[in-house]
Amino acid sequence: MLSDLNGRLSNRLARHFRAAPHRLPMYAPMVSFTFDDAPDSAASEGAALLEAHGGRGTFYLAGSLIDQPGDHWHGLSNDAIVRLHRAGHEIGCHTFSHLRAVDLDESAMAREIERNCSYFHGIDCSIRLENFAYPYGLASVWRKSQLAKTFRSARGILPGVNSDVIDLQFLRASPLIDCEIDTRGVDRYFDEAVASGGWLIFYGHDIVDQPSPYGCTPTLLRHALKAAERRNMPIVTVVEALRRIGA
Ligand SMILES: [Zn+2]
Repeated sequence: MLSDLNGRLSNRLARHFRAAPHRLPMYAPMVSFTFDDAPDSAASEGAALLEAHGGRGTFYLAGSLIDQPGDHWHGLSNDAIVRLHRAGHEIGCHTFSHLRAVDLDESAMAREIERNCSYFHGIDCSIRLENFAYPYGLASVWRKSQLAKTFRSARGILPGVNSDVIDLQFLRASPLIDCEIDTRGVDRYFDEAVASGGWLIFYGHDIVDQPSPYGCTPTLLRHALKAAERRNMPIVTVVEALRRIGA
């Protein structure tokens, strides 16, 4: 109970403190599709749909979940990770054990990160994890500055478009999750990105016809990809977006 309260408070404070502010240099709306954990359907169906639209995604992975069965999906395999990496998708970092940042002290977080980075480096030595996503979207005001020393960015699950002055260590991301958004909601985020010239980031998990409460159908993903195309918005990985905004 108390630790839950502390966790929520720390997450809230992390929105406002220890920011890594970065002003977007120009009007350049773009979109990133990110997948957390990640289910094997994200690496197959999800990646294939992105590629068919000339885009690439960012997959925030936790080493402990690789090739493991879960309540809602089977984790992607080492082979799938190599394929994603070679096809130009980005492998991003979660904590190795998928523990929440708010539950880790400095040394525990350091061990989690070290373990995760070496796991993926062990699969393919050219995989370097440059960007982080908070497991469960829960940031920690205490861990934020620690993570900033290792990663170029950290993504939460605070919805909205990253525009004007953004916090690189608390990137906003909106759900691409059928339980939470429909096609009209997706369109609204795209319109907002066009109006502000900002960077829209979606997050999700599985991509299947009957998705988990955390995933979406291929239909919804296809809708979002077409929405980007219609607006001439590039579909880029997080690392490529950071390059484009000079971060
Ligand atoms: Zn996760």
